[in-house]
Amino acid sequence: METNFHDDRGFTLVELMVVFAILFVLVTIAVPTYAGVVRRAERRACHANQKIAENAASLYQVMTGRWPQDLSILVDGSGDVGQLLGHYPECPAGGTYRIDPETGRVSCKKHDHFTDADPGG
Ligand SMILES: [Zn+2]
Repeated sequence: METNFHDDRGFTLVELMVVFAILFVLVTIAVPTYAGVVRRAERRACHANQKIAENAASLYQVMTGRWPQDLSILVDGSGDVGQLLGHYPECPAGGTYRIDPETGRVSCKKHDHFTDADPGG
């Protein structure tokens, strides 16, 4: 009687190691690329939010002759001209916005790296 020592079913350890090595290389390429795409998308959405808020601030400046002191004036309509922004802008990366009352420029704490101690702008 002949004994079959060679079983053709399943994978060898070397074959499994090759598959896992290929998967490891693909994941190490894909994860940083995905993270970079997400970061760029958040930055662009943040920039769009800033431009929308600056446009509302510009409208406020045209109507009143001065820049709003705070973005909340544009949202809650407590200024002289009523509500100019539908809702307070939210940075997708969790930053907070502020407006420079001298120039009307809106900046994000997370993306433009200001601190609460910095003067406006
Ligand atoms: Zn931001």
